[in-house]
Amino acid sequence: MGIQYCNECNKKLSWSSKVKSIWLGYKPIQCEGCKKEYRIEFKTRYKATLYMIIPLFIFAKILSSTFILPTIYFFGTVLLFGVSISFLMPFVVNYKSEHK
Ligand SMILES: [Zn+2]
Repeated sequence: MGIQYCNECNKKLSWSSKVKSIWLGYKPIQCEGCKKEYRIEFKTRYKATLYMIIPLFIFAKILSSTFILPTIYFFGTVLLFGVSISFLMPFVVNYKSEHK
């Protein structure tokens, strides 16, 4: 959880590459230092999906009962919220190297 370091060269696995990885459907990431490949841990993948869907669902529910918004704005706002959650995802997910 939190910031991870490459276990080969101790370089930080960057936040931005994790966000990119999540957006690309949990694509493996590469260490910027030694090019070692890291894959998202399977169980944290479920956690990430859950962390993303539940707040989104609650948010959509609150939004729809508080404001009367045209559908397009409603989905726009929900989408924006989803994007901001994904920026927090790197703190939730864990990456593992292929070989120990
Ligand atoms: Zn490395």
